Amino acid sequence: MKTKPRLPPGHSLLRALTLTTIGAAPFGIFAPPHALAQELPQREAKAKSPKPATVFQFSTLPALSLGFYDGGLTFGEVLKKGDFGLGTVDALDGEVVILGGKAWQVRSDGQIVKLAPAVTTPFAIVTRFKPDLAQTLTQPTDYAALRQTLDRFLPSANLPYAFSIQGTFSSIKTRSVPRQTKPYPPLAQVTKTQTVWEWQNVKGTLVGFRFPAYLGDVNLPDYHFHFLADDKSRGGHLLDCQLQSGQIQVQTLRHFDMLLPHSGDFDALDLKTDQKAALKQAETGK
Ligand SMILES: [Zn+2]
Repeated sequence: MKTKPRLPPGHSLLRALTLTTIGAAPFGIFAPPHALAQELPQREAKAKSPKPATVFQFSTLPALSLGFYDGGLTFGEVLKKGDFGLGTVDALDGEVVILGGKAWQVRSDGQIVKLAPAVTTPFAIVTRFKPDLAQTLTQPTDYAALRQTLDRFLPSANLPYAFSIQGTFSSIKTRSVPRQTKPYPPLAQVTKTQTVWEWQNVKGTLVGFRFPAYLGDVNLPDYHFHFLADDKSRGGHLLDCQLQSGQIQVQTLRHFDMLLPHSGDFDALDLKTDQKAALKQAETGK
C-alpha cells in the first residue's frame, strides 16, 4: 500500500507542489500561500507556449546618472508598451509612477499630476503587469527585512522582476527631484537638493523592479520602488518604509526590450565609466 505524503491539515497536495514550484520560500513574514498564490506560481510554467513577459525600458539608468535628462519618448508611447512601471519626466522633473495604465508625476513641490500623452521621458521602465507569484504579509516589516525576504522568495537571482506591493504603511519615506536646467548636473548632485517626505499611516502601492547584476550596466542591479498613495495625494521614489500589512505580487520578466534615445547628446555620453556607485548613492540617498 502506498503511503500518501503527510500534509498538515488544510494543505492539499497541489499546495505542497506549489511550494516546490516557487522554491519552498521560507515564509517568515509571509502567510502560507492563499488561493491566489496557489494559482499564480504555475501560470508562468504551465502555459503551453509561454509568451515571456516583457519589460520595456527607454534609455539607461547610467545615462540618467550622467545627467542625460532630455525627454525622447512620449508617455503616450510608453503606455503602449506597458501599464505598470516607473520613470521620470523631461528635465528630470519629478518621479513617475505608472499604475493601472496611467502615468502620474510626483513633482518636487509635492503636487501629483496625471501626465498628458505628449509629455516626454528621458527614462522609463514598464511592463504589462500580470503577476505569477503572490504573498500576503502577515506581520509588520521594515524595508530592509522586506528586501531580504523578497531575496529569499524570488525563484532566481538571474531574472528581472516587477513588483506590486499594495498595503498599509505605518511610515513611508519618499523623495522627488526638482526640474533641471542645462547644462544638466549629474543625478547624484541633483539628489542633494531633493525633497524628502515622511508620512505615517498611508495606504498605497509600491511599484518596482529588480534587475539582476548582469544588467547593472543598463539598470539598477537592486530593488527600485516608486510609491503612489491610493488617494493620489502622496508619492515619490522610495527611500524607506515600515509596512504594516500588504499584498505582494511579483511578475517574472524574461524578455527585455530596450529603446535608446535618438540623440547626439546620448551618443556622446561617456558610458564606459561605471555609474553603479553614483547610482546607488543617488537612488538610496546613502
Ligand atoms: Zn526612482
